[in-house]
Amino acid sequence: MKYLSTRGDAARPRFCDILLEGLAPDGGLYLPERYPRIDDAALTRWRGLSYAELAFEILSLYIDDIPPADLREIVSRTYTAEVFGTPDIVPLTRLDGDRGGLYLEALSNGPTLAFKDMAMQLLGNLFEYELGRRGETLNILGATSGDTGSAAEYAMRGKRGIRVFMLSPHGRMSPFQQAQMFSLQDANIHNLAVEGVFDDCQDIVKAVSADLAFKRDKRIGTVNSINWARLLAQVVYYFAGWLQATTSNEQRVSFTVPSGNFGNVCAGHVARMMGLPIERLVVATNENDVLDEFFRTGRYRVRGSAETHETSSPSMDISKASNFERFVFDLLGRDAQRTKQLFGDDVPRGGFTLDAAEHARVREFGFVSGRSSHADRVETIRTIAQASGVVVDPHTADGLQVAAGLRGPEPMIVLETALPAKFSATIVEALGREPSRPAGLQDIENRPKRFTVMPVSVDAVKQYIAQNTR
Ligand SMILES: *Cc1c(COP(=O)(O)O)cnc(C)c1O
Repeated sequence: MKYLSTRGDAARPRFCDILLEGLAPDGGLYLPERYPRIDDAALTRWRGLSYAELAFEILSLYIDDIPPADLREIVSRTYTAEVFGTPDIVPLTRLDGDRGGLYLEALSNGPTLAFKDMAMQLLGNLFEYELGRRGETLNILGATSGDTGSAAEYAMRGKRGIRVFMLSPHGRMSPFQQAQMFSLQDANIHNLAVEGVFDDCQDIVKAVSADLAFKRDKRIGTVNSINWARLLAQVVYYFAGWLQATTSNEQRVSFTVPSGNFGNVCAGHVARMMGLPIERLVVATNENDVLDEFFRTGRYRVRGSAETHETSSPSMDISKASNFERFVFDLLGRDAQRTKQLFGDDVPRGGFTLDAAEHARVREFGFVSGRSSHADRVETIRTIAQASGVVVDPHTADGLQVAAGLRGPEPMIVLETALPAKFSATIVEALGREPSRPAGLQDIENRPKRFTVMPVSVDAVKQYIAQNTR
């Protein structure tokens, strides 16, 4: 399989060439040259597979520059009951039997209790493998306000040839999220608590990465959500969800996906393009409704920071959706010129509007959308707990709220993107009690913490990196 850029770059790299990269050289995003089609026989064969075996089948359609035996070993080491809490890895829970049934697909039983572990754990093992093969090392630099940073750290901890430098806004993460990251004692993990807000952290990362000499010399890389390997890893659980909810290959299901940067639901789009019988892909947003506005109107309007709300489903608080260009490229019949016109120079003038014919095609791709508010989340958490005894986190509640209004006759699978333990304030507001915690995390806030406080200074961060990469 070869890969292309959504903006038309002539190069056609293979999987391992883009594994450690972010954007394509022309600023576009990588996609496979074509989507392999899955036939009926394959779907039938896959019904009996474990999650790791299923992941191997799907990944090997896109990865032909890692020997199959090695890939199989990496995947089976990644998707284990020890790491993901259950042998099913992504078990379905049935919430009601109306119409085709409403299901939750649990993606958040990994080490950091959010779905980002599903992809990041694989990425850690792939990075270690590929760097080892090349005899290289990598220093991952990132900024986080919560889920991404901790997922990256838990995936990279103790890995040979890899260090992580993770910037977070000092004192602004929830105590649980902070404890998750700062309690890691691994020598290759560096937590930098920046005396500023999340945007300051992100600006520092951008400035350090823009210093190309420093970047090359210190071998700086990233693990952000536009990485193709992360997206590919997520394709697997759409197949796993469909396999659990159906008994025959004719049955279609719909998925609802709590969305921010469009990485998660874009993987659903890829699964659908491969021929997985998905009826609808429901994009659920919170008050930051860039994506809902687009799917309803065809207008993609990037928000400024004044218009970006801090909500109780914080991992969906985005001003623009960094993976969105991938879908638009497919929507426009893979017209790289038109994609470049729309997205070039970082979405000029803050956005674009598709013409009516272009916008009408979102339905052919199965997409619909909806948004929810803080009051909706609280209400949904309460209703679901009363009706089924299941406590969901605020992001998953956004999904359930939006799904409720868009159910058809087919089964609806809502992706559970985090566990409620991570967002106790909203759970207390909704239910009047603390969410339960998985075993072993009871005392996490009391563990010794390992972090360095940094001023809002590009030079200070560079100096820290230089001192700690010798
Ligand atoms: C990252 C995240 C999301 C949003 O996923 P995208 O891939 O950015 O659309 C939703 N919920 C939780 C809990 C997350 O961590």
